[in-house]
Amino acid sequence: MSTAIDDTGQQFIDGRRRRGRSSDALRVINPSNGDVVATDTLASVDDVDEAVAAAKAAFPGWAGATPAERSTAMHRLAAELDAVAGELATAESRQAGKPIRLTQGFDVPGTVDNVSFFAGAARNLEGKASAEYSGEHTSTIRREPIGVVGSIAPWNYPLQMAAWKILPAIAAGNTIVLKPAELTPTTSVAFAEAAQRAGIPDGVVNVLTGRGSVVGEALVTHRDVSMVSFTGSTRAGSRVGSLAAGLVKRVHLELGGKAPFVVFDDADLEAAARGAVAGSLINAGQDCTAATRAYVQRPLYDAFVGRVAELMSQVVVGPVDDPATDLGSLISLDHRDNVAGMVDRAREAGAKVVTGGRPGTGALEAGAYYEPTLVVDAAQDSEIVQDEVFGPVLVALPFDGDDEGLALANDTPYGLAASAWTSDVFRAQRASAGIAAGCVWINDHIPIISEMPHGGYKASGFGKDMSTYSFDEYTQVKHVMSALSPQPRKDWHDVIFTSPTEQGEHHHSRVMTA
Ligand code: NAD
Repeated sequence: MSTAIDDTGQQFIDGRRRRGRSSDALRVINPSNGDVVATDTLASVDDVDEAVAAAKAAFPGWAGATPAERSTAMHRLAAELDAVAGELATAESRQAGKPIRLTQGFDVPGTVDNVSFFAGAARNLEGKASAEYSGEHTSTIRREPIGVVGSIAPWNYPLQMAAWKILPAIAAGNTIVLKPAELTPTTSVAFAEAAQRAGIPDGVVNVLTGRGSVVGEALVTHRDVSMVSFTGSTRAGSRVGSLAAGLVKRVHLELGGKAPFVVFDDADLEAAARGAVAGSLINAGQDCTAATRAYVQRPLYDAFVGRVAELMSQVVVGPVDDPATDLGSLISLDHRDNVAGMVDRAREAGAKVVTGGRPGTGALEAGAYYEPTLVVDAAQDSEIVQDEVFGPVLVALPFDGDDEGLALANDTPYGLAASAWTSDVFRAQRASAGIAAGCVWINDHIPIISEMPHGGYKASGFGKDMSTYSFDEYTQVKHVMSALSPQPRKDWHDVIFTSPTEQGEHHHSRVMTA
């Protein structure tokens, strides 16, 4: 990909890349330096109709393809993405302000791995074995695709989100219209182009770049969209969920997080401190599973705070295309101001900033940078502890008893991810059972893996991304019940026909009616 501005369009509909049909301009900005990366016009509601019609038309052919055919095309997609890994890493870094080391080492390989996983998993979809439960019929379970999936994604990991949304849906035989965040569409469109080069038929994967309130809502409420899969904030997810519920549509919600990081007094201090810094600063903290609240048992608390502050001050904040940069910019100047506002309000409420706590300075001033920040002495019920900051900000708080630590960890509306740090196997087990979250790491924080599910408890949503658990979202189960005998008279008919059976007596049938 060249460094020139891409104005070829950020829509991909029915196998064709093109510009949006609304009159609103779209400018994709590199938030680390203000450069324009791509321009287009945003998608309109007419574009939604066209993309959904293309997905609907492609559905019978794609759903009817054999698992092996779908799998082969998806393996080719993994290879196509891998072949342009360098360009994808650069494009992702530029549109999202991510350090190039992160996109080369994490976003792109993680995406390719996810695609490869689902290419394999596509051949392992099965119903349960058939059996004669009634004695009079064979019951079989068919697992079937749902139809056109409308997916909506956030800006924090645009390429990975495209994979997480598209792959389980199409592996199961659905077709999809994906709406990436308006701030970061370029790699989702590149992903759709790679799908076409891989031989995935036109219309199976469509991408629309438009506003959430216009294109997002038109997609969610479109009568030919059978399922909605949303990743984003709890606020927007609640709106999407209520729109889908009103139309009785299946909905899958992956929402916000506020992950606790619980350090017991027998933990390895150095491991916990390093884990807290990496776990809170990854992707500049714009990660729904990022460590945000470190609860540290009193005997380790001061040493933990000191070591985390020391390690945070060593993190290199810099230009995103420099391989030496550890921490890039936030997604936009507006978002940087939100993060700064939350830290400033915490200070005003009596919290102390141990390190960081201000926007980037000097050469970084023009970008959306914010320094790695450690906050202490905040109240448990304060905004900085309860609400998503989605920036490079960790709050540390002390606790005494184990039960208190776990209770504090559970004391927010969210439940996406958490970690517990201890060398005691019993404490580890109690923490993994006691923390209400979709993922609990023990002595680590952040790693995810394609084979394992990702999804929330509580206000972090419901349904799973990744792993074969995601097929529960993207398929529906059908019971087929076939009579074993051609007899016109069935035993259960005596509930409706008053005359006795041919033998002159009533049988008790095992068949129940709904
Ligand atoms: P957001 O909710 O503002 O936007 C997410 C997407 O929803 C965007 O594409 C946006 O255009 C669209 N949208 C907004 N309002 C809409 C509406 N009314 N109808 C339909 N679509 C609408 O979130 P964001 O700021 O892009 O992303 C950050 C949030 O995403 C954080 O809260 C983060 O925790 C969450 N997130 C969650 C996960 C997860 O797996 N649980 C993963 C990544 C991000």
